Amino acid sequence: MLIGVLGGGQLGQMLALAGMPLGLRFRFLDPTPNPPAAAVGEVVTGAFEDEAVLAKFAAGVDVVTYEFENVPGASVRWLAQRVPVYPPPQALETGQDRLKEKTAFRELGFAVHDFENVEPGDDGLGAVARLGLPLVAKTRRMGYDGKGQMVLRTAADAARLRATLGDGALLIERLVTFKRELSIIACRGRDGACVTYPLTENVHEGGILRVSRAPAAEVDAATERSARQHAEALLQRLNYVGVLAVELFDTGTELYANEMAPRVHNSGHWTIDGCEVSQFENHCRAVAGLPLGEPGVRGSSVMVNFIGAMPPVAELLKIPGVRVHDYGKEPRAGRKVGHATLVGAGAVLTQTLIAAAANGQIASC
Ligand code: AMP
Repeated sequence: MLIGVLGGGQLGQMLALAGMPLGLRFRFLDPTPNPPAAAVGEVVTGAFEDEAVLAKFAAGVDVVTYEFENVPGASVRWLAQRVPVYPPPQALETGQDRLKEKTAFRELGFAVHDFENVEPGDDGLGAVARLGLPLVAKTRRMGYDGKGQMVLRTAADAARLRATLGDGALLIERLVTFKRELSIIACRGRDGACVTYPLTENVHEGGILRVSRAPAAEVDAATERSARQHAEALLQRLNYVGVLAVELFDTGTELYANEMAPRVHNSGHWTIDGCEVSQFENHCRAVAGLPLGEPGVRGSSVMVNFIGAMPPVAELLKIPGVRVHDYGKEPRAGRKVGHATLVGAGAVLTQTLIAAAANGQIASC
C-alpha cells in the first residue's frame, strides 16, 4: 500500500520508519527539495496549492495523510475527492481554527478557559473589557510554537492588539495560571476502535518543546481516565482516523484543554522507544485500515529535543540505554533537528541527557 503524506519533515520520516516494516510505502509532498523524509520515501516537490503538483502526488497513492497541519483546506478537499484522506478534512479544519477547536472542546465537556472570538475589523477592546485582563490574544489561524500571540496585561497592551497581531480573526482567552503542561495522544482506526497513550508532561522554552516525561508523574486515576475519555470523545465527534494530540494545562485542580494537533505530535516521540506500538505505527495502522495496537508502555520515559544542532552522536551514545533520533537536518537556530529518549533511567542519566541537549544548542537560539 502506498501512503501519500502531505509534508516531508521529521514527522513524515518517523511515520515511514514505523510503517515500512508493515509493508507500507510512502510518498511525500513538500515545498522544499530534500526534506528529512526523502531518506525514507519518494518526494514530490512543489506547492500544496498547485493542482498539477497535487495530481502528481495523488497518482497511484492508496490513501493520503499529513504530518503538517497548515496545509490549505482547499488542497485537502481537492485530494479527498480523488483518494481517501485521513484524518478527514473536517478534523484538519477544526485544528486549523482556534475558535472551532475551543468550541468543540467546550461542547464535549473539556474544561476550557473563557474565550471570545474577535472578527476582522473589530479592535477587540469589547472582548477585553468583558473577559477582563490578564488575557492572551491569538490569531485564529496559522499560529504554532507560540507564534501569532500576545499576552495582554494592561490597557496599553490591549491598545496594541491590532498593531501586533494584524487584521485577521483573533481568539482572546483568559491567561491561565497553570502548574505544568500536559498532553494526551489518542488514535482511532477506520473501524472506530480507539487507543490512548498516558498523559505526558511537557516543558517548553521560548514556545518550543524541550522535554517530555511519560507517563506524567502525580496524575490520579480519575484525572487520567477523564483525559482519555475526553480525547476519545473528540476522536468520535470528528469521525477521526489517525493520531490526534490534545495539549492541556494542569492547574492542580483541573485540566484545561488548550489546543489540538490533528497529527502525530512531538510530545509523543517517546512512544517510539517507550511503547510496544508507537504513535507513528498506530497512525500508519489507522490510515491503512489495519488493526490498532495497544501502546504497551515499557516504563517511564524521558524525551529530550535537540534544538538548533545535534550534539555529537558518539557522545550521546555513551549514555547507557539512550535511543538517538537524528533527523538529518541542517543546523539552524530554533530548529528541531533530533531527539533522544531514555526509558526507565534514573535521575542522573536523565540530567546527563538534558545537559547534552543544552550544550548542543546554537548560541543564538
Ligand atoms: P499555543 O500556541 O496555544 O500552544 O500556546 C503556546 C504556549 O503559550 C503554551 O504552551 C503556553 O505555555 C502559553 N499559553 C497559551 N495560551 C495560554 C493561556 N490561555 N494561558 C496561559 N498560557 C498560555
